[in-house]
This record gives sequence, structure tokens and C-alpha cells, in this order.
Amino acid sequence: MNKLQILVVEDDTPVRNLITTTLKAHDYRFFVAVNGKEAVMSTASINPDVILLDLGLPDIDGVEVIQRIRSWSTTPIIVISARSEDNDKIDALDAGADDYLTKPFSVDELLARLRVTQRRLAQMQGGANQTAIYINGHLRIDYVSGCVYLDDEEMHLTPIEYKLLCLLAQNTGKVLTHKFITQSVWGSSWENNVGSLRVFMATLRKKLEKPSDSPQYIQTHIGIGYRMLKIE
Ligand code: CA
Repeated sequence: MNKLQILVVEDDTPVRNLITTTLKAHDYRFFVAVNGKEAVMSTASINPDVILLDLGLPDIDGVEVIQRIRSWSTTPIIVISARSEDNDKIDALDAGADDYLTKPFSVDELLARLRVTQRRLAQMQGGANQTAIYINGHLRIDYVSGCVYLDDEEMHLTPIEYKLLCLLAQNTGKVLTHKFITQSVWGSSWENNVGSLRVFMATLRKKLEKPSDSPQYIQTHIGIGYRMLKIE
């Protein structure tokens, strides 16, 4: 069994039971924490592969739990939040969470998020982020020459489109917030640039996903941000 070892942090018993029953049924190993303090301590002692973290915890705020864990660990964190906590979700992603699930979620959604995370982990362990060439489906980025190819045909990108694509590629599998992307691409004063981001993203996607049968590389998270998907 080489499946992931997961730390489940959830104070709500029915939700926790749904998660642990699902994990058990799919041969995942897991540990449980019922508050923020336990979550931080268990992360240090167990060193899990993935953390499923409810944002509404009885003791410490979920975002603070992420900040504490991120001070020493890069373990992928999938946050679980209620629909009314959209801002918390964005704060959690900005604090270093990788992905999110919104309550109520289905078993299939949970398993899908774990598969995305598993691929991301495999990439991180394979050192794929350090290579000079990025390959994903039909897309190839040669960081050294700054050239991008789709099906071996060179793509003509503007400097900002190239910057956006590289940022997404270097974080494949991770949801990046509007704030994170605009700050990375344009620096400060990001709030004025969310509109520009939408425009640049639309033109980039048009170039990247032009044939109707081409795979979808960039996923939109409405009100939150974007994610580069790893194509199978
Ligand atoms: Ca809760």
C-alpha cells in the first residue's frame, strides 16, 4: 500500500465520519485531529502527506493553523469550508493552502481533490519544478529560451501572457488566487489589476485551448482564481 497518509482536521463529527469512511473504503491511511492545536501538533509528529483542514475550528482559526504549519512544512493542504466562508477560503489559499472543498461536498469531489494532490506531490518529489523544460499534455515551455510550444508549434505570447503561463505551470495542481497572481505578475496595487488579469487570461486561454478537442489546461475558480491542471 503506497497510498497517501492523510491528516483529517474536522471538529464536526458527521463530516469527519464521512471523510474517514471514504478514506478507509479507498485504502488511504489517516489520522484525525479535532481542533487547531491538535492539527499543528499532529502535523509535526506524523508528518502527513496531505492535510484536509476544516477552516471553522473551535480553538484556532483555520487560516492561522495554515500559517503555523507553513512556517516549517510544505505539506499540501486542502481546506474544507462552508459556502458562506468564501473570503476565508481565499485567505486560506493566500496563506498557503493548495486547494479547497466547499461543504456540502460529495465523496467523488473529495477523491478527485486527493488525486490532484497526489499528482502534485509526485511532481514535487520528482523535482519537476526545477527542470528547464515543462511538459504538460501538448504544451511545452522551454524556460531557457523563453519559447512555448503547443503540439510542437511555437506559440506567440505577449510578455505578460508568458509570465502568467509560467506562474501557473510552476504551480500545476495548485489553486492560485487573483491576489497571488496579480501580485506576482504586476507587483503591488493588485486590486486594480483583477480586471486586466481576466483579459490576459482570456487571450492566453484562447491561444492555448483553441482546437475544440484540445484538453483544458487552465481551470477557472469563479471569484477565487485559476489553476493549471496536469493533463493525464
Ligand atoms: Ca467546523
